[in-house]
Amino acid sequence: MTDLHHTLLTLDSHIDIPWPDRQDAWTEDTARQVNVPKAIRGGMRAVCLAAYIPQSSRDESGHVEAWERVQAMLDVICEMGGHHNGQGARVCRSASDVRAAYKKGDLAVIPAIENGHALGGRPERIVDLAQRYGVRYMTLTHNGHNVLADAAIPRKDLADEETLHGGLSALGRDTIAAMNRSGVLVDVSHASKSTMMQASGISTTPVFASHSCARALCDHPRNLDDEQLDRLKDTGGLIQVTAMGSFLKKGGGGTVEDLVRHVSYIAERIGIEHVGISSDFDGGGGIPGWKDATETVNVTRALVAAGFTDSEIAAIWGGNMLRLLEQAEKAAEAT
Ligand SMILES: [Zn+2]
Repeated sequence: MTDLHHTLLTLDSHIDIPWPDRQDAWTEDTARQVNVPKAIRGGMRAVCLAAYIPQSSRDESGHVEAWERVQAMLDVICEMGGHHNGQGARVCRSASDVRAAYKKGDLAVIPAIENGHALGGRPERIVDLAQRYGVRYMTLTHNGHNVLADAAIPRKDLADEETLHGGLSALGRDTIAAMNRSGVLVDVSHASKSTMMQASGISTTPVFASHSCARALCDHPRNLDDEQLDRLKDTGGLIQVTAMGSFLKKGGGGTVEDLVRHVSYIAERIGIEHVGISSDFDGGGGIPGWKDATETVNVTRALVAAGFTDSEIAAIWGGNMLRLLEQAEKAAEAT
């Protein structure tokens, strides 16, 4: 079993980085749930690291601040490439880069953005960030509506009503077109249902949810309901079940077994090719059985115990996400 785990290209599709940066990505003995030594020790082979932009005011000052912060965070993520004490990390721009890093035994780092607020209301900036940093996905929102789209969880402290745009704004639609052209996946985690349904209708590359769970099993606004899951199936999208106790079990307290219960439910409803895994480590994630990157083998154990075959586990653990990244790359080349 441990043998199987260490043959897998395990890809965790959502991890935050501490901010402000503490320059501790290579130091094993810190409170961080994921750093290079912990990931390598735990057999976590590829990580999507998110530059997380908190939602702030939807005006010029909020937009200037967000644009500066996203570049500073992506600078830090992209500086992680290199070798220290016999361990390596490689910043990856493509699925083939990820496979090459895996073959060498290096940790694959895939840059991502959490919250389209980062663009400061200028859709074309995603093209620039994709070119400069190799950004591969961006959530349209965080908690709180932004100028692109409505969020699943409005922010009363920012004077949010239940809805601002009724889903996507015109700017949000332009942003999705720019993301499609640049090979940046449209991430609908944190987006409202109307935003998600509209985005899946206009995006030329299937949308995905980098860190969400199944609402049928746990009624939380951050989870996707059956209609949304069916839409992912119809459009070729993907949902990456996440290790957030309160999304896994009503009232909280979800465990690694609950995480696999969500994976099984989604696989049965829409097919194994539409489901994967994420931790949301260093962003609030972490559950009994998978509290940091060093315990990643327990997820594989629970998948085996739930009856998945080795090839199914390989698809869930990264194959599906790599396929989607490749699809986005091909679509970008074709434009
Ligand atoms: Zn999040």
